[in-house]
Amino acid sequence: MAEIIRSIRGMNDILPEVTPYWQAVETALKEVLSGYGYQEIRFPIVEKTELFCRSIGEVTDIVEKEMYTFADRNGDNLTLRPEGTAGCVRAAMQNGMLNQTQRLWYMGPMFRHERPQKGRYRQFHQLGAEAYGFNGPDIDAEMILMTARLWKKLNLTGVSLQLNSLGSTQARLAYRDVLITYFEAHQDELDEDSQRRLHSNPLRILDSKNPAMQALNEAAPKLIDHLDDESKQEFEQLCQILDSAGLDYEINPRLVRGLDYYGKTVFEWVTDHLGSQGTVCAGGRYDSLVEQLGGKGAAAIGFAIGLERLIALLEAMDSLPETPTIDAYLVAVGEQANQCSLQLAETLRDQIPALKLITHCGGGSFKSQFKRADRSGARWTLILGDDEVAQKVIGVKTMATGEQETVTWDALPTYLSK
Ligand code: ATP
Ligand code: MG
Repeated sequence: MAEIIRSIRGMNDILPEVTPYWQAVETALKEVLSGYGYQEIRFPIVEKTELFCRSIGEVTDIVEKEMYTFADRNGDNLTLRPEGTAGCVRAAMQNGMLNQTQRLWYMGPMFRHERPQKGRYRQFHQLGAEAYGFNGPDIDAEMILMTARLWKKLNLTGVSLQLNSLGSTQARLAYRDVLITYFEAHQDELDEDSQRRLHSNPLRILDSKNPAMQALNEAAPKLIDHLDDESKQEFEQLCQILDSAGLDYEINPRLVRGLDYYGKTVFEWVTDHLGSQGTVCAGGRYDSLVEQLGGKGAAAIGFAIGLERLIALLEAMDSLPETPTIDAYLVAVGEQANQCSLQLAETLRDQIPALKLITHCGGGSFKSQFKRADRSGARWTLILGDDEVAQKVIGVKTMATGEQETVTWDALPTYLSK
């Protein structure tokens, strides 16, 4: 026998017993987004590699070691999108959408060649939102309040908000020197990753997940003490809006985000309930990206939610949403019954459009069909034999109580609508 082909490591099937939760979560998220005037945008999963190198940054984990890059048959260098922001900006630029303000969202798979573990996969899913053409900090605050509302809508607890400002490009460059001087003085305490980043991307050292780096990072000079006046003022305004809206947050001076395009406001929603993969939602301002990609500068801010982590957290907090159940399962035994069961089902679907009805297919005895009905979780089993067909009636068994009644075909829609 031929060997069974298995899926790629870190790329998971999402099976029918969990897709109802995904659907319910996605629907809830979309409702909140559309309530703030965000519109969906869909852009390709594959883009030119250059797009990601130029936006995310050459010296980032993603570009250095996580991208799925390949040569197209005509020799083009292409990459499976590792995140959505770059493609979203590209699409907005290309389609002339940046002449006016935009509030956009997208949802779909992303690809990163990371070491698979709980909460970290090679194909994972993000819901992202981006706003273009707003200088902030009001839009920053709105976006953060909107994420808080997403959690409220999902009855999600156990997440907390961390905030920081990365300042202007100039402020960040000046701080970079301060940081290099500090880490150079402690060079022997740096782990391998940090050694490598010392001169290429020293801010990223602060983001290290290595516990051995914790003390050194905590004692490092803080970016928030080196902010330019404008960023400082905007950050204070942002905090004031969040304060007056009654939203709790913690200012985390070591929050730098892993991607190069961020400046000014950055934020993360984090949890202690998912082990070390604790960031559920992450975002920030990236005003310089459009220009970096060759467009006319446009203010921009966005965030992305890791849907696997969000759903894992809902499960951990015992807050998975209600999912729809089957209303009725129609069993049919006998020549006449078999002949008219599908037709009866179609009539019922016309009469009650929202009805979730499974029609038994493939024959079998009443006993075996009842077993299926039971397993389907249906509220009612509808029972059709030749006698029922002759009298234009049907047996209706309420599964929770085991009670069974005979109902005429005419009365059935009313019965099932209650
Ligand atoms: P992390 O620090 O956890 O590696 P990141 O900074 O690389 O995250 P972003 O690029 O900001 O993550 O992506 C936004 C969100 O997408 C993350 O907060 C997380 O919830 C989710 N995410 C990122 N990478 C993965 C992955 N490999 N598997 C599952 N979810 C992921
Ligand atoms: Mg990462």
